[in-house]
Amino acid sequence: MLWLADLPTYKDQNLDSLNEAVHHGTSLLVVKSRFIDSSLEKLLGAKFKQAYTATDPLRITQKHFITRRLTEGGMGTPKTDWDFSSRFWIEPLGAQVLIHQAGHPVVTENQVEDTASAIWLGVPETSLLRDSSYWKEIFFRSLIWSLGYLIQPDIDYSHAIEIEIDDWGTADKGFLSYWHYLEPGEETLRSFLIAPLEKHRAVAAANVISGYVDRQSRRIVSPWGKIFTDAWGQHQDYASTRKGLLDAVAAGVLEIESHGWIHMDPDLDSPPGPWWTADLKGEASADGWYSEFADHRRGTEVAAIVQLFHMEQGFEAIEKDFDQRPLELRPGNGGWSKSQFNNSGRLAAQAGFGIFHAEPDYYYYLDPHLVLDMTGISPQFTTSFDRLDALQSELRPQHPDGPVMVLFHDRDIALRSGFVEDLLDTLPAGYKTISANNYVGILHAQVVSSTTDTEWQLTFDYENPYCTFFEKHPSSWRLWLSDPIREELQRLPSLRLTTDNDSKTSMQSADLSRQPLVISIPMGRNKHAWKLTVAN
Ligand SMILES: [Zn+2]
Repeated sequence: MLWLADLPTYKDQNLDSLNEAVHHGTSLLVVKSRFIDSSLEKLLGAKFKQAYTATDPLRITQKHFITRRLTEGGMGTPKTDWDFSSRFWIEPLGAQVLIHQAGHPVVTENQVEDTASAIWLGVPETSLLRDSSYWKEIFFRSLIWSLGYLIQPDIDYSHAIEIEIDDWGTADKGFLSYWHYLEPGEETLRSFLIAPLEKHRAVAAANVISGYVDRQSRRIVSPWGKIFTDAWGQHQDYASTRKGLLDAVAAGVLEIESHGWIHMDPDLDSPPGPWWTADLKGEASADGWYSEFADHRRGTEVAAIVQLFHMEQGFEAIEKDFDQRPLELRPGNGGWSKSQFNNSGRLAAQAGFGIFHAEPDYYYYLDPHLVLDMTGISPQFTTSFDRLDALQSELRPQHPDGPVMVLFHDRDIALRSGFVEDLLDTLPAGYKTISANNYVGILHAQVVSSTTDTEWQLTFDYENPYCTFFEKHPSSWRLWLSDPIREELQRLPSLRLTTDNDSKTSMQSADLSRQPLVISIPMGRNKHAWKLTVAN
């Protein structure tokens, strides 16, 4: 249980149930809170005194699981000189102090029951749990200590990059003077998308538009039948583009995701339209028309029901045209509606997407119950054929918790055929691509722990619709154990490890000493059982 509340949000609440939960084995982690409540004080074994400011360094007082890697790993302490922010001074009344600042407790731990503890983190800002490696380590180890074990994806996110290519199928490239180019066809895609991705063992996502705004018929039609000569005399062949995209999917280097349905304002008829007949040198070229989930031209939101219709049209067309289930929605022009009622993220969850990624700063985890803002987890930026010089500096921000997301357009391949090769060559050493569906699958995998007298089972459930990636790919996870759980397992005479009821191996206590333990799960979109059994 993670407690981030401070007064007055809970002053009239009855916290007895909290007390009960901890005494029944649920640990409590209290962050940046004065915990002014007798139940919380009793659980934490401490009491808030008053505010203080000090610039003394933080010091570790004793050996403990939570602080072990701070000392052993030689991690530097955060800079405190010139930090005059006010902090919480608390008095320990039974809790052990793990870190202090000139006598003021900064991290405390109180063992309430054998299997439940209450930890207080006096972090100055909650965001430091994400952004400071020092606080992140304390938070991470506190979670392991509280839960007894913790499962993490076995991915080095700090060297992972997710590549997305926008605008496949849009109509505007055939008529907008400032966004005009030849939609890359099958041959171009074979040589300049598939080949470089294969060579670098890389994957990318194509964000596809399935509704082509046809100014001649004033209708929205499928782009994939459009073969014509545009106003600049270029022979556009969208059927060939679709073939190229399908080839890339078949080669295992591309996933198809949704860029919306039409990449245009849903209302193309009202003033200052109709857009259909407006002059392409004037009104029809105006930027706001090209955003689909917020009406940038008229400065309003788009009604929820209209957005949902567009999202579902795009979703269903991708299933029909590419035989793929898109898991990501990236709204065109980064336009999205933010009010509670019209919130595009919530609607995208309803339409079945697993992630919503609007440029430049928004990215949301989605499922039927939750739309979770993950902004700030990792950097994201748009690159292009004439902006590659900036790539190294754009990749510089640390991102240990999520892949960096980089975007470009089909336009970059059209205007510089070697662009994908150049981009992959420019990536710093050690960087690997992670596919959008792989990332979504990791975020949506359900891990459930269950025990009997002689067994401990972790179930990795990939049956939900967001975990399609694991149908044809194995996966691996890191298992961290707290000292008491590890010692308990090591005291057992011998353990047998099974994964999905086969590959029986015996497990030595030395194996458990290695932290983390890597769990390998075979491919298959089902429930996988990783099980430790006491061998007789
Ligand atoms: Zn776009």
